[in-house]
Amino acid sequence: MKAIWIYSSAATLALGAAGVTAPAHATEAQSETSDQSAAETAANPLLSESPLPFGAPQFDSLTPQHYAEAMERGMTENMAEVQRIANAETAPTFDNTIAAMEGTGNLLTQASLLFFNMASANTNDDIQEIQREFAPRLAAHNNAISLDPALFERVRTIYDQRDTLDLDAEQLRLVERYYTSFTRQGALLEGEARERFAEINERLATLSTLFSQNMINDTGQWTLLLDSEDDLAGLPDTLRAAAARAAADAGHEGQWMITLQRSSVEPFLQFSERRDLRRQAFEAWAARGDNDDAEDNNAIIAETLRLRTERSRLLGYDSFAEFQLADRMARTPQAARDLIERVWTPALARAEEERDAINSIRAAEGADDALAPWDWRYYAERVRQERFNLSQAELRPYFELDNMIAAQFYVAEQLFGLQFEERDDLPVYHPTVRVWEVKDSAGEHIGLFYGDYIARPNKRSGAWMSSYRQQDNLDGETTPIIVNVLSVSGGEPTLLSYNDAETLFHEFGHALHGLLSNVRYPTLSGTSVATDFVEFPAQIYEHWLLTPEVLSRFARHHETDEPMPQELVDRLMASRTFNQGFATVEFLASAFVDLDFHDLTSVPEDFDVGAFEEQTLARIGMPDEMVMRHRPPHFGHIFAGGYSAGYYAYLWSEILDADGFDAFTETGNVFDPATAERLYRFVYSGGNTRDWTEAYVGFRGREPSVEPLLRNRGFGD
Ligand SMILES: [Zn+2]
Repeated sequence: MKAIWIYSSAATLALGAAGVTAPAHATEAQSETSDQSAAETAANPLLSESPLPFGAPQFDSLTPQHYAEAMERGMTENMAEVQRIANAETAPTFDNTIAAMEGTGNLLTQASLLFFNMASANTNDDIQEIQREFAPRLAAHNNAISLDPALFERVRTIYDQRDTLDLDAEQLRLVERYYTSFTRQGALLEGEARERFAEINERLATLSTLFSQNMINDTGQWTLLLDSEDDLAGLPDTLRAAAARAAADAGHEGQWMITLQRSSVEPFLQFSERRDLRRQAFEAWAARGDNDDAEDNNAIIAETLRLRTERSRLLGYDSFAEFQLADRMARTPQAARDLIERVWTPALARAEEERDAINSIRAAEGADDALAPWDWRYYAERVRQERFNLSQAELRPYFELDNMIAAQFYVAEQLFGLQFEERDDLPVYHPTVRVWEVKDSAGEHIGLFYGDYIARPNKRSGAWMSSYRQQDNLDGETTPIIVNVLSVSGGEPTLLSYNDAETLFHEFGHALHGLLSNVRYPTLSGTSVATDFVEFPAQIYEHWLLTPEVLSRFARHHETDEPMPQELVDRLMASRTFNQGFATVEFLASAFVDLDFHDLTSVPEDFDVGAFEEQTLARIGMPDEMVMRHRPPHFGHIFAGGYSAGYYAYLWSEILDADGFDAFTETGNVFDPATAERLYRFVYSGGNTRDWTEAYVGFRGREPSVEPLLRNRGFGD
């Protein structure tokens, strides 16, 4: 049962390019188990407890077949456990039903958490094949559980009596989450509607898998090979070095390769003086998943939207957005729209000013044609240099990966007393992956933290946090095992852009939400919270990167170890609101399209995804020189991840993080112990044990205000 909630909402948090293939809702255990050869079983590390310290995953001996076998057996075991609970003769109680369900599905949860992490971070053909096979089967498995009438009857009985059962606050919350989740997964449906609902879920799991695989494959197919100084015009040394390594790895020694990974193409667009090459790269980047070929995602999108709408209507909602937001902090699509519209107007005005600044540079250069989308990043970088005399190339030497890892740990030590010890005795799935043991201030073990930072062709683009094991105190203490995955261009040493460093902090904020979790029940653990709340602990963590306390200690030149000169710090601070019009408009356009798609109350057979996208962009007045941050055909957040009708959530969470970080600065101490304690108690350790608004108010002492967000983005007066 745990499996249901884990996959559907919590396990993986994305920033950047994509959400996860979060399949898994689930069914019928195929009963073809298991008198397979006993030898095979004995050899499968997933079928017994890991003998490694803290039960760490045995990455050195796991094969794709092991995952498949363990998920297979896990489904069978899980179904038997659930059946025992559902069909028990005894009257339903909290303990024999809800708490008992919390103890089920351990093998399946364990195997699939590991498997789906591998499918995103280190995939191959065998893994992709297993993923295609298991995604719909896991969905069917989850369906069978959440649509089991006997089980739901027990849950409903307990839910109806909940106020008389002498439950504590966490137990009461758990009962409410079970009831809500069952009804949202169709438990109240009957007859044909019930069957159709299950059918739709399985199909949606397959569609999301296909979408995600198309994205990985389409992104990997296109490269731009550069072979002369002429082609490299404008590119800084760090980018040249990364491009040379990428070319060499692909067998093109002596050339330079640009790929469609954000970490490669975005700096290329920023620096390349070759407008023709920028155009080629930009057009390929913007067209990912939209090339009318085997990896084209448009038909998958249309079918996904149609099925999501149909499923929501079966549950009594007008649209998928209404269904989704009913169980979020925002509550209604209108509340989300009100927010993005409030920010859109000042953002658009600011973007227009930015465009004017760019156009005056171009006019001075004698350009007589219109600014194009492949020009914006390049000229924005020029304006940045002119206005702040600040280039990303100047910053990179101060953001060395190892220093930034130390910095993210330092902040956790200051705020929460944590200690991190690197362990080189634990196996990893790729030689660049690192592992740390996390301890509290008393030296007690809290969990394990894995960091997989360097880009690889078989890793999904973007950055995310995920769990190999979630914290709970159900049956003794289960400590969390958490991973951060990023895709930065590796080097000797690895130097980060300022944005990469911010992403590192962001994902580590999610990691702490998993590591510091201190709840009894797995369903309420760590990041298992609403999509529009879950970014808050991640985004607030970014704020510490730019504090003098952190910069002076860790933003040090990788060769000289000199701290970043104060005047460079000043220019960096002054430039923070630079190009925020562009960044905000780019983001909000994707958020509008997401909400518009999912506000549809019916989706016709011949639904034209591209035309719909254009309509929305026209309605909001999207400038011609800009393209939305994620166009639908590669918008993994909403078609292959957990952010459907929820991309606005990043901005929603930003209200919370901007307002929340002010709680520290108002005290004059960015590590203020009392504020840190409340942040720990109500947010990082609390999982889903409280209503989200209540959790925020517990930390902040009042409801959030939108003003700090507008101020931070430079949209104040
Ligand atoms: Zn995030």
